[in-house]
Amino acid sequence: MKHTVTLRNGVQVPALGLGTWFLGENKAARAREMESLRTGISAGMTLIDTAEMYGNGKAESLIKEVISDKKRDDLFLVSKVLPNNAGKHRLEQALDNSMKRMGVEYLDLYLYHWRGNYPLEETVAELERVKKAGKIKEWGVSNFDIDDMEELWQIPEGRNCLVNQVLYHTGSRGIEYSLLPWMREHDVALMSYCPLAQAGTLRRGILNNPVLKEIAKKYNATVEQVMLAWNIRDGHTIAIPRSGRAEHTLLNAQADQIQLTEEDYNAIDQAYPPPTRKEYLDTVSYTHLRAHETRSN
Ligand code: NDP
Repeated sequence: MKHTVTLRNGVQVPALGLGTWFLGENKAARAREMESLRTGISAGMTLIDTAEMYGNGKAESLIKEVISDKKRDDLFLVSKVLPNNAGKHRLEQALDNSMKRMGVEYLDLYLYHWRGNYPLEETVAELERVKKAGKIKEWGVSNFDIDDMEELWQIPEGRNCLVNQVLYHTGSRGIEYSLLPWMREHDVALMSYCPLAQAGTLRRGILNNPVLKEIAKKYNATVEQVMLAWNIRDGHTIAIPRSGRAEHTLLNAQADQIQLTEEDYNAIDQAYPPPTRKEYLDTVSYTHLRAHETRSN
C-alpha cells in the first residue's frame, strides 16, 4: 500500500485498514465476509479493527478464521475494551477473551472503546499493566473529545496513548476545529471510523453529492473511493472502512492510488466546509444503528 502512517512508536501501518463491525454475525454471509477480509489483507489492508462489542465477540471469532494461515507479524490487530470492562480485575480478562477469540497471543493495539464510569487513572493503570505483561504492544482510546484528551494528559502514563479512534468522514468534519490539531500537536494518530459515513442515515445523501460525483468521475473512481482518499490525505490518518463484499473491499484498497489535487480539496471544502467553531464530537448511536442494519440485511 502506497499510503502508510508512521505511529509515534515508529511502527508503520497501512493508511487503509479493515473495519469489522457487523461482520461475523450472519451465518449465511460468513463465507462472503471472510473472502472480503482476505481480499483486503492481500491488497495490503493488514490492519484489522475489531472490538469485543461487535456481535458479542463474533467479529473477533471471524477474524480468527480469516488470519489462521497468515503470519501474525504481518498483521496489525486492534481490538477494544467495553467501558464496563475497563476497570481493575476486569480489563485483563476481557483482553484475554478477545485474544482467545482471535486466536492470538498479543494485540498490536488495544483501545478503550468509549469513556465509562471507571476513573481514567484506573483504566490507564490496567492498560499499562497488560502492556508490560506483553499482551498488548500499545494502547489508545476511542470517542475521546479534546477535554477527555486533556484529562488523559494530566495522568503521566496517559501520555502513552498512541491513537484516538473517532468518527470522521467528508460529511462530518467537526474534529478539524480543535481535537485534530491537538492530536497533531501531541502526536496522537487519528483512526477514522465510519469513513464511508456508514450505510443509511449517516450518509445523508453524501453519495449523491454532485461535487463528489464529479471528482469521482475524473478519477474513474467511486464516491466512496474519493471519500477514503480524502480521509487519509494528511499522512497521519488511518481509515478503517468496513465491507462484507470482496469487490467493495478491493475498491477501498485501490482508493490508495487516488491522489487528489488542491483543486479537488477546495471543491470538497465548498461542498462540505470545515468547522468554524467547536462542535460536539460526532459518534454513532449504537442502538439506532443496530436496528437499522438489522432492517437492511
Ligand atoms: P463505514 O463508514 O465503513 O461504512 C460501512 C458501509 O459501507 C457498509 O454498509 C458497507 O456495505 C458499505 N461499503 C463499504 N465499502 C463500500 C464500497 N466500496 N462501495 C459501496 N459501499 C461500501 O462504517 P462502519 O461503521 O463499519 O465504520 C468502519 C469501522 O470503524 C467499523 O467496522 C469498526 O471497525 C469501526 N467503528 C468504530 C467505532 C468506535 O466507536 N470506535 C464506531 C463505528 C465504527 P457492504 O458490506 O455491502 O460493502
